[in-house]
Amino acid sequence: MIYDVLIAGGGASGLIAACDLARRGRRVALLEKQDRVGRKLLSTGNGRCNLTNLRARAADYHGARQAAQAALKAWPPGRIVKYFESIGLFCDADEAGRVYPMSRQAASVLDALRLFCDENGVEVLTGFAVAKLARGPEGFRAESADGRAAAAKTALVCCGGLAAPKLGACGDGYRLLEGFGHRIEPRFPAVAALKTPPEAVRGLKGIRAEGKIALVRRNDVVRSESGEILFAEYGVSGIAAMQLARAANELLNRGERCGVVLSFVPDWERPDLALVARAKEMPKRKMEDFLTGILPKRLGQSLVKSAGIALDAAAGSLGRADCDRLAARLAGWSLPVTGTQGFDQAQVTAGGASMKDFDVRTMQSLRAPGLFAAGEVLDVDGDCGGFNLQWAWSSALMAAESIEARLSGAND
Ligand SMILES: Cc1cc2nc3c(=O)[nH]c(=O)nc-3n(C[C@H](O)[C@H](O)[C@H](O)COP(=O)(O)OP(=O)(O)OC[C@H]3O[C@@H](n4cnc5c(N)ncnc54)[C@H](O)[C@@H]3O)c2cc1C
Repeated sequence: MIYDVLIAGGGASGLIAACDLARRGRRVALLEKQDRVGRKLLSTGNGRCNLTNLRARAADYHGARQAAQAALKAWPPGRIVKYFESIGLFCDADEAGRVYPMSRQAASVLDALRLFCDENGVEVLTGFAVAKLARGPEGFRAESADGRAAAAKTALVCCGGLAAPKLGACGDGYRLLEGFGHRIEPRFPAVAALKTPPEAVRGLKGIRAEGKIALVRRNDVVRSESGEILFAEYGVSGIAAMQLARAANELLNRGERCGVVLSFVPDWERPDLALVARAKEMPKRKMEDFLTGILPKRLGQSLVKSAGIALDAAAGSLGRADCDRLAARLAGWSLPVTGTQGFDQAQVTAGGASMKDFDVRTMQSLRAPGLFAAGEVLDVDGDCGGFNLQWAWSSALMAAESIEARLSGAND
């Protein structure tokens, strides 16, 4: 049987493209390497799936930003939300524009896609790892290493990137596209925790504190984020820190040094004066508890110690220089960044198949007409906050529309 479309990869982008083409009456084969489709989707948004962001703009994307812009124009977040409604999934947004399924369960998103595919006759072939994709007599032919094959008039590569290999990422999509002469931009982890010298943070493992974290190169702030800062034995994590990973990796890959500056009191105008006043108000307070009430206790003690102040000293004994040193820690603790977590722990891949080889309005290959790609395999990545799934859905729906136009001869 010759399908209309072969889709390699049954993740976010592959599933939505399959829904859309099947709804149009196309014969779709969805080839998924794992034993079930959409495994990564289940882990998104801490199991709640932040499926888009109503405030998404091109500036939230990196890599081939003009492609993200084209996809946002064609399929803005509001249209994606309506699309999901049309396949049975209702969503709502939080105050930051982050959209979640009403059930707050990522499984609902996967179920909506899966059930719609099923009801509309998508042929889902699981355990089918596409090892070879080549031109065939009718269009394209996909083969797995264990001898399975499928043929179709058009092909869509939705194999994702390298982030989170436990959930299926493997980089096969790059190899499939390279087979058609596509160029691959260098790939590195984006949205990942930052590594610092471990001795600086080891004692703080597991502590969370609200604050601001800035990535700095020499004395310039490259990017700063606010939110929860989570200490790990290897460095700093939490969404705010993870948002800085892409920029940190870009600098480190160029051989440049960078660091982070943490402020736990970003709204205090003069932390030095605030500490002087606090010491006066509570002269008997032991320094081990001086910052208790402002910060988690263990973090407060660590800052006091690292400012060279004895934990058993009384606050009344603090001199002006002590307060200045402690204020500098509280509002500007600098740590060198030595790297980020690798693809094993990262959420997103920066880099990938170059958009120079695709038409950004159709997602069609400029090297092999009839071949399309969508999602993370391409050189577009977004910040944390629903932007990556927005790209996966919108690029896939653009590809599906163009595939339909091609199959119906509209753009022959
Ligand atoms: C822990 C985690 C949490 C995340 N949370 C969010 C979030 O809340 N919001 C957000 O916007 N983004 C989030 N992301 C990012 C988002 O999940 C991805 O950007 C998105 O899933 C990419 O979609 P995709 O279809 O391109 O790739 P994927 O969803 O990765 O799907 C690719 C599929 O292709 C299959 N495949 C690979 N090779 C082959 C082959 N040779 N043959 C057949 N099949 C193959 C894989 O098994 C996989 O099922 C998160 C990522 C992670 C890891």
